[in-house]
Amino acid sequence: MGEFDLITRYFTRPAARAALGVGDDCALLQPRPGTQLAISSDMLVEGRHFFADVDPFTLGHKALAVNLSDLAACGAKPLAFTLALALPTIDEPWLAGFSRGLFALADLHGCELVGGDTTRGPLNICITVFGEVPVAGGKSQALLRSGAQPGDDLYVSGTLGDARLALEALRGQVALPASVFAQARARLEQPSPRVALGLALRGVASAAIDISDGLLGDLQHMLRASGTGATLDTSVAIDLIAARAHSDWAAGLISLQKQLQYVLAGGDDYELAFSAPPSARQAVQHAAQLAGTPVTRIGQIDAAPGLRLIDASGQTAPGDLGPFSAFDHFA
Ligand code: ADP
Ligand code: MG
Repeated sequence: MGEFDLITRYFTRPAARAALGVGDDCALLQPRPGTQLAISSDMLVEGRHFFADVDPFTLGHKALAVNLSDLAACGAKPLAFTLALALPTIDEPWLAGFSRGLFALADLHGCELVGGDTTRGPLNICITVFGEVPVAGGKSQALLRSGAQPGDDLYVSGTLGDARLALEALRGQVALPASVFAQARARLEQPSPRVALGLALRGVASAAIDISDGLLGDLQHMLRASGTGATLDTSVAIDLIAARAHSDWAAGLISLQKQLQYVLAGGDDYELAFSAPPSARQAVQHAAQLAGTPVTRIGQIDAAPGLRLIDASGQTAPGDLGPFSAFDHFA
């Protein structure tokens, strides 16, 4: 099988909403009047972002999920994506699993594959997603990192830290009960991008970011862009590990400090962190209900730059964020 048969068999479907899909030199998208295109790329590299032996179905899911998460953070509605793929060999069972996982998530979000590139090389998956954001009264409705205001509440969606917990278990660093491991592993390998929440938060949230490299690190990007700081309550944050809700949770095996580290700096969560004024509390809960994604208020935005962690007593938790710094590929 050659490159073109491969593309035809595994990555070509008739164009649905796109004006032109796979097969020509370019795909054509027709943005609707009164909308902007939101565009984002993410690359997944074997050994760095996933284990070589990971199930191709979940890999297909995750490659698209991490991109849809960026659209979610912007409050953009997914439209289409392109896939640039480097493959060491043509492994048909692998390709079949990968494309099934990819299209299952794509179909769930009405996001169609419109083009890409295929080449031989070390396994590498790069997806670019295109989404739609309305413009109202000349103003983009996109959620940006830069809109947080002092006094705003700070929220996070869903749960945090479980992907990191699974990673530690896969690396043999912790032993987990089977049911806890299964749930955590699903979070690591098949994250659910919070697209519906991002859409519901348009006009409600003042700023948003998706959490891919850990809450504290990504939050600091949002704070810097907004020219603000924040105070975050670690006694609330600690409960964001879903595993803690399991009756057979391995609490004694994992120190509180470690749990907090997974929550604050675990990475691979693909939840949304966002701010909204206190006057919007009901609107935020309504958005969460609409989206079917719970949100938790974990702190507030301050005028003073920097991030302060407090515990239940209001005392400043660890003075510096040293052990909680974000993942950086080049650090
Ligand atoms: P070109 O050489 O003009 O860039 P290619 O020969 O690489 O075009 O690709 C042929 C067609 O197949 C193009 O429409 C391209 O977008 C599409 N394509 C290539 N690889 C993929 C892929 N992995 N997934 C989806 N479409 C792809
Ligand atoms: Mg090409």
